[in-house]
Amino acid sequence: MDEKLKQAAIDMGKSDNDKSTRQSRATKRCPECFTELPLDTKICFSCNQKIGKLGKYGLAKKPFGWLSYVICILSWLGFCLYIWWAFIR
Ligand SMILES: [Zn+2]
Repeated sequence: MDEKLKQAAIDMGKSDNDKSTRQSRATKRCPECFTELPLDTKICFSCNQKIGKLGKYGLAKKPFGWLSYVICILSWLGFCLYIWWAFIR
């Protein structure tokens, strides 16, 4: 993990020194394993994570996690129902 972060920091420094190539880059990096991928790739072929569009520093954005979002809302609803059931009802 530390090696990956170090490598990412090094790559960010490089791309900051060379802004002209950053504008016209044809690849993005997987946010999980930092593998270089073509811009239209939707699933990283190195770690099989779903990845989004090109974001900051050439890193791909992580796609929005609908499942975790729904689970979060459901757990909050359950919590509110419990409060209502236990104290207000
Ligand atoms: Zn990956």
